[in-house]
Amino acid sequence: MADDYYSVLGVSRDATKEDIKKAYRKLAHAHHPDKAGGDENKFKQINEAYQVLSDEKKRAQYDQFGQTSEEPGGGNPFGGFNINFEDLGGIGDIFGSMFGGGFGGRGGRPATRRGSDVAVDVTISFLESAQGTKQTVAPRMYQKCERCHGNSAEPGTPIETCATCGGQGVVTQSRQTPLGVFATRSICPTCQGEGKQAKQPCSRCHGEGRTLQTQELEVDIPAGISDGQQIRLSGRGEAPPHGGIAGDMYISIHVTPDPALRRDGNDVRSEAVISFPQAALGTTAPVRTLYGQESLDIPAGTQPGTEFRFSGQGFRGLEGGKGDHIVRVTIDVPRRLSREQRKLLEELDGGKSKPKRKKWL
Ligand SMILES: [Zn+2]
Ligand SMILES: [Zn+2]
Repeated sequence: MADDYYSVLGVSRDATKEDIKKAYRKLAHAHHPDKAGGDENKFKQINEAYQVLSDEKKRAQYDQFGQTSEEPGGGNPFGGFNINFEDLGGIGDIFGSMFGGGFGGRGGRPATRRGSDVAVDVTISFLESAQGTKQTVAPRMYQKCERCHGNSAEPGTPIETCATCGGQGVVTQSRQTPLGVFATRSICPTCQGEGKQAKQPCSRCHGEGRTLQTQELEVDIPAGISDGQQIRLSGRGEAPPHGGIAGDMYISIHVTPDPALRRDGNDVRSEAVISFPQAALGTTAPVRTLYGQESLDIPAGTQPGTEFRFSGQGFRGLEGGKGDHIVRVTIDVPRRLSREQRKLLEELDGGKSKPKRKKWL
C-alpha cells in the first residue's frame, strides 16, 4: 500500500501549496472514474491525500504523526497510518480534527470527557498557616494509564470503529408491541458511546485508559491561609476513562488552634497576664508572636483590658499587607492569699475593705 500522501500526489515533502494543488488537479483529471481508463480507487486516494496536504493544519499533523504503512492494512481505519500510540495522548482528538469529525461516530456524546474532582484534607499548625509551608499529599485516585496514555489501546495496535454500533456510539433496538414498533436508542454497550474501540485493549488498564495510582504531590500552602480555606489545583484531579481532561484537586486546609494565639482577620491576639502590683508598678512581659519572642514593656499604672500592638507581626494577607499582634493585658486576681499577702493588701487598702467583710460575718 503506497499511502504516503506526498507520493500519491507525486510531490516532495517540501512542496508548496501551489505545487500540491497543481499535482492534484492533474492527477484527479487523469484518474477520474468517469473517464475512460479512470481508476476509482486511485481517484479516492488522490482526493484523500489532497484533503490532508492542502490543509496547513492537517498537513502539519500528518508530517508529525503520519507515515507510510507497509503492512497489509486492509481494515485499518486510519487509512494506512502507522501510529506509535505510545507517543500520543488524545488520539481521538487528533483524528477528530484531522478528518473534520468524520472519524468514527458522534453519537451525541460530549466532545471532551472530564475526570472527577478530588478532595484532599490537609492539617497544618497555626504557625505554619502564618509562615506558609509545603505539604505532601498522596491521594489514591484514577490517573491516566502510563502504558496507553489513556487511549485504552495496547501500544502499537489500532483503534477501530466499534463493530456493535458501527461508530455511532448508540444502538437502536426495535420492539414489536401491540401498539406498533417501538425503537429505543441506548448507549452502545460495547464501546460505552465511544464509537470506537481498541482492537487490543491495553494490558495494564484493561482498556479503561486509567489506573488507580497513589499520586504524590507537593502542595505549596501560602502564608496567611486560614482554617477552612481551599486550594484548587486545576487538572490535578482524576483522569476520566478512555482519555480526556483531568478533574481538579481541592485541598481543604485545617489549622490546628494555638494555645495562646488567636487569629482575628489578619491580626493575632494574645493576652498578657500580670499581677496587680505589676500593673501598678510596671513590668516587662514576654510575648510569643508568629515570628519569635518579643518583650512587651507594660508601663506603671496600666489598666486591665489595655491593648498593646506589635505592628506588622500579624498574618500576611493573601492579598498583601500584614496584620498586627495585639496583646491585651489581664490582671490576675489571686483566689487565695497568704497571711502575709493579706496583710500587705489590707495595708494598701487603708482598712476600707475590712468592715465590709465583717458586716457579712
Ligand atoms: Zn492503558
Ligand atoms: Zn459501539
